[in-house]
Amino acid sequence: MNDIPSRFVGPIKSYLEKRLMELKVWQKRIKQSDPFSDEQRTRDNSSEEDLEEQVGHFESEVKAGFVKRQMVEFRKALTRIKIGKYGICERCKKPIDTDRLAIKPETVLCLSCEKNGE
Ligand SMILES: [Zn+2]
Repeated sequence: MNDIPSRFVGPIKSYLEKRLMELKVWQKRIKQSDPFSDEQRTRDNSSEEDLEEQVGHFESEVKAGFVKRQMVEFRKALTRIKIGKYGICERCKKPIDTDRLAIKPETVLCLSCEKNGE
């Protein structure tokens, strides 16, 4: 049973789709800013430049990982909407608090499952 009214789901769907687009743009930008993605990168770097690139690469990896996780969450939430299970906790199958959904629309877990899960 899904007790999230459709007038509530509609705006959430557009919000999720919009955010997903933004995340895609981000992902692209992060890739471009990763020094390791630069194929023209000189091989005879000084060690200082090398270190800088290592740090830059690490930062890009962390950011890319974060964006990727977010994208997975948004996609999941959109799928839940599509199959009519939005607002139902993926783990315990109980309805997720609408206040929680209002703050974090991409969530697919209720608060207690999220706390217990990670
Ligand atoms: Zn739950």
